Amino acid sequence: MASLKVDIVTAERVVYSEDVEAVIAPGIEGQLGILPHHAPLMTILQAGELVVRRGGQEDIMAITGGFLEVRPDRVIILADAAERAEEIDIARAEAAKKRAEERICARGAPGFDPARCEASLRRAMTRLTVAEKVRRRRRR
Ligand code: ATP
Repeated sequence: MASLKVDIVTAERVVYSEDVEAVIAPGIEGQLGILPHHAPLMTILQAGELVVRRGGQEDIMAITGGFLEVRPDRVIILADAAERAEEIDIARAEAAKKRAEERICARGAPGFDPARCEASLRRAMTRLTVAEKVRRRRRR
């Protein structure tokens, strides 16, 4: 079966580097599905779930945004931050969500930045959704 190489990297580390069958990424305009032999492409990613199909299984990751490039033989994702589901610290994401919600509730306070608050809430929610999905699958 045809496969394509996927590299997911941040400024800090290589998060994922495998030969896979498909990538489903949170494009800025919606879900983006990439199979082998996809046409070259460059796009922006938003915070969301990133799914990679490999060997008949799914690897699920949280990504907080970045760039995706499809080359003839590979997909390169430069992520702001990305974690494999099993790396997500749920307590940390819960705390980040609570902080963002508290700031949103206190909107109007000096220095309140709605876009920043919403972005941090979205990052936390993405991490919690991804971690919970994988936990539920494991319980089955
Ligand atoms: P926090 O306020 O908890 O730092 P954040 O959304 O501001 O959350 P980011 O700036 O997106 O954090 O990420 C900073 C670094 O911390 C990245 O390397 C990211 O992968 C990691 N990180 C953030 N939250 C988590 C988490 N819940 N579990 C595991 N790694 C995390």
